[in-house]
Amino acid sequence: MKKCDFCEVEETESNQVISGDGHSICKSCAETALLLFGVEEVEKGIRKTIQEPVEIIGDIFDKKQPKDLKKILDEYVIGQDSAKKVLSIAVYNHIQRVNNPELKMSKSNILMIGNTGTGKTFLAETIAENLDIPLAIVNTTSITAAGYIGEDVSSVIERLWKSADEDVKKAEKGIIFLDEIDKNRASVGGTNNKDVNGKAVQQELLKLLEGDTVKIYPEGSAKNRKSGSVVEINTKDILFIAGGAFVGLKDKPGVTMTSLGTSNEDKEFSSIIMQELLDSYGIIPEFYGRFPNIVELEPLTTQMLKNILTIPKDNIIQQYINLFSLEGINVEFTDKFINNIANEALEVKTGARGLKTIIEDKLNEILFEIDIFQGCNITVDYSYNKVKVSKV
Ligand code: ADP
Repeated sequence: MKKCDFCEVEETESNQVISGDGHSICKSCAETALLLFGVEEVEKGIRKTIQEPVEIIGDIFDKKQPKDLKKILDEYVIGQDSAKKVLSIAVYNHIQRVNNPELKMSKSNILMIGNTGTGKTFLAETIAENLDIPLAIVNTTSITAAGYIGEDVSSVIERLWKSADEDVKKAEKGIIFLDEIDKNRASVGGTNNKDVNGKAVQQELLKLLEGDTVKIYPEGSAKNRKSGSVVEINTKDILFIAGGAFVGLKDKPGVTMTSLGTSNEDKEFSSIIMQELLDSYGIIPEFYGRFPNIVELEPLTTQMLKNILTIPKDNIIQQYINLFSLEGINVEFTDKFINNIANEALEVKTGARGLKTIIEDKLNEILFEIDIFQGCNITVDYSYNKVKVSKV
């Protein structure tokens, strides 16, 4: 039952309650407001609200075109050229679409396929952060369909709303990253409970993808639900990016293309094959049909991992150089050392995710003894399976 925030009276047929932006007012309180402020003042306020321009998202967007967006991504993300291009165009379209509703453009959702730790989430984070677009990253394995216990789709929207500083309009133009979407397979052939749930989760998510009004109850408690404190978010303008490793997707006889969906030679052909593969993987057509862009991320090579360590803005090696310099230590890491970290990361098969742990493991001993090196120039090398530090 809805309740007025001012007089706390519950809604009745003769005293209706209206809600918006998380607040509610009953007819009787609204009438009192009219009496207090005068009809003219209230009308002026309403006109002002109506005339307010569309809130533009993508703060620094005015001068940004797809190539500029790709340049931003290039500063942080190594490789993944196709994904960067697709994402730059999709985000450009997204911003144009939400800021110019009269264009009635369709959505540019993206499905990213690639091994774990290759940069799928990182690409979304980088663009969202740099353009000040709210982003919610959701692990879809924790979502359960209605009727099951677990996280439901409204908590996905709540996360986006929080990321938009609880600003409904901003949240409605944000990005939702649906991680591990490949773990929600519908049953293909045999059935088991998990598969049944996988299909149900895809169907639940479809509601969001198709554009739905989702009610969220900010504190999430039953008490709040009763008191009517509700925020409504429409998902029709939200950009969705889904990511997954899709292990074994191409393990099908006759599939030889290395870069399906991105191959320039015959895009249409490869996209048909990709749809067939997704079908037989257990992604329902209604779901992948909502993703006009399907892009593959390349597996990271040793050289790419080395570049990740040393090239992007705020790279890990630079972070250590800065840390050492706080103690007056000028540190140089040899190529052999960096090579070794990259090789170890390649072996553990977690993409770039493992780099930080591996380097920490190697440098912790040196950091513990940091006082010994204060004010020195040092070189950190790796030989005979050991990290070696020498003063120069
Ligand atoms: P996933 O593909 O599983 O979503 P992430 O994007 O979460 O992987 O990658 C984990 C971390 O590894 C990122 O936060 C980022 O620091 C680093 N990383 C992954 N791929 C790249 C890349 N191509 N360039 C730079 N850093 C990367």
